[in-house]
Amino acid sequence: MRSRKRDGPSPRRRVRAANRPLTSDTARTVTPPAFAADARWMAHAIGAAREAEAAGEVPVGAIVVSGGVIVASSGNRTRRDRDPTAHAEVVALRAAAAALRDPVLSGCELYVTLEPCAMCAGAIVLARVARVVFGAWDDKGGMGGSVGDLLRHPRLNHRPEVTAGVSADECGALLTRFFAGRRGEEPRDGPLEAL
Ligand SMILES: [Zn+2]
Repeated sequence: MRSRKRDGPSPRRRVRAANRPLTSDTARTVTPPAFAADARWMAHAIGAAREAEAAGEVPVGAIVVSGGVIVASSGNRTRRDRDPTAHAEVVALRAAAAALRDPVLSGCELYVTLEPCAMCAGAIVLARVARVVFGAWDDKGGMGGSVGDLLRHPRLNHRPEVTAGVSADECGALLTRFFAGRRGEEPRDGPLEAL
């Protein structure tokens, strides 16, 4: 949790940060009080990730906040629903739109434990979410600055504010532990294993 007192970013991360199309190191520039508030919301997303893990899912969780209230919360559901699109963000966005009776979520913030993939980043942009806060970076699939930056693509007509790296170690440890626990078990049962 208290993982921010490091000796700065790794050289690899520094290189990657330099290659990002727009400023994305918001986690390093955000003020501590704001970070603490983000960490409190992220704790709820982490709770959703833990619930997903308990159900045998890859532990990723997301919440949608509107007006200081959680209007939707979900963990990853791809295995339970046999649905490759049932990532935590997509499920939470759908639930938020239903709860608010509005497909436009411009007054909302989305907190998610893992950097959104291309699909989720696309959904976030389409929903016009005002702000995205994510925990762990996803070097292999993240579209919030790792593989690319769809969230803030300059050609798209909506770009949410992005804060990265909130409770990143805790969020990442969930995934690391999950996949470490699976190593050596029965052969994988298909692409649903992957995020
Ligand atoms: Zn996704």
